[in-house]
Amino acid sequence: MFKKILIANRGEIACRIIRACKELGVKTVAVHSEADKDCMHVKLADQSICIGPASASESYLNIPSIIAAAEISGADAVHPGYGFLAENTYFAEVCEACGLKFIGPSKESIEKMGDKIKAIELMKKSGVPVVPGSDGPVNPDDSKIFQLAKKIGYPVIIKATAGGGGKGMRIAKNDDELKNAVTMAQTEAKAAFGNEEVYIEKYIEEPHHIEFQILGDKFGNVAYLPERDCSIQRRHQKLVEESPSPFINEKLRKIMGKAARKAAMAVKYVTAGTVEFLVDKKGKFYFMEMNTRIQVEHPVTEIITGIDLVKEQIKLAAGQRLSVHSDKIKIRGHAIECRINAEDPDKDFIPSPGVIGKLFLPGGPGIRIDSHVYSGYEIPPYYDSLIAKIIALGADRQETVLRMARALGEVEIENIKNTSSLHSKIMANEAFQKGGVSTDFLQKHIFKD
Ligand code: ADP
Repeated sequence: MFKKILIANRGEIACRIIRACKELGVKTVAVHSEADKDCMHVKLADQSICIGPASASESYLNIPSIIAAAEISGADAVHPGYGFLAENTYFAEVCEACGLKFIGPSKESIEKMGDKIKAIELMKKSGVPVVPGSDGPVNPDDSKIFQLAKKIGYPVIIKATAGGGGKGMRIAKNDDELKNAVTMAQTEAKAAFGNEEVYIEKYIEEPHHIEFQILGDKFGNVAYLPERDCSIQRRHQKLVEESPSPFINEKLRKIMGKAARKAAMAVKYVTAGTVEFLVDKKGKFYFMEMNTRIQVEHPVTEIITGIDLVKEQIKLAAGQRLSVHSDKIKIRGHAIECRINAEDPDKDFIPSPGVIGKLFLPGGPGIRIDSHVYSGYEIPPYYDSLIAKIIALGADRQETVLRMARALGEVEIENIKNTSSLHSKIMANEAFQKGGVSTDFLQKHIFKD
């Protein structure tokens, strides 16, 4: 096992990783920007090092600073969390070259799954179903895009090869919209990822986003865990996640789980990752992408399986043998996670940074809170707006929805506009309560006026 892990991240996920390390008896080093000196992850770690000014490019994305901090502190491994450098092959390579274990898959696995076009190609070869599409990058000035869209059938979606966080995506319903949609997607992709390459895919109507957590060891063993349904999204970004999915049955769970395992095996996947699928109305499923890191929504899987994914991830990175077997996992009830963001849902979700006054986060039976905020904490304007995750576990879906609604009602974050009221509306919605809604739920049922 590692002796000291440097956590190259901030906020709730840094706190989550530090907690796992403590339970494993591993020392921790927090890194932070000048703006984050009072953040909870700095307080929880055994040691902390400032790595630069507030802007992420000068701190949490600053590879030389992070590596220097690891060397100074004598860390033997680096945990990247999610976002920032988590899926950066260069960072993984530099860590390994400096004798630091990167807690994630190999740089080759990240590379193969990082480029969405290449990943789709590989999945096709491996026998994992994919969405019909352009099989390569497209260009708005090439008239072939019209033939291609005709062959695929409208509507189509234009997506960024380097995509993430729902950015760089455009839908086109006909030839008139296509050229402009490709141009817009390219512009957005260039701004968000510094890479304007985009491709075309069939737009699956009323889809369900269903993903599988994967764990793999260096001996080639891969387990899939019960699925997460992440169909409640705003602008292609997840808001609520639950497990098990109210949309799929035991039979489909097994088939999709095995496809997810196949996808992971195709890249010799080690540690924790997620294979994402879209499922159409008829239950036909398609590979969308693989995220080669721990995800925001991992706690729903943890609480219904009783498996600590972050500890498993660290143990697998340390070279231990996989101790989880897909067929032996028991689903213990139903779990839902709500992401509480410091954003104003009444003002088009504009960020709401500032100093938190009184703070009360819910508790009671079956409630877990993953957060880094406290009363008097100043939410900086520089990073993503996630301030807390509320995760509820109940005996069944109905109890969990009622439990989450009860917990949301307890939330008090003085001075900070946040999304808890939106989540309360979702929990109270009849269609949501019935279960099995698709990714257009918010437009159809919550923002319909
Ligand atoms: P990102 O990497 O930006 O998160 P994904 O490829 O994971 O992008 O897609 C994010 C979301 O966008 C999906 O959960 C789904 O709601 C929507 N989406 C992506 N591809 C399609 C598609 N072919 N048809 C319909 N919706 C899609």
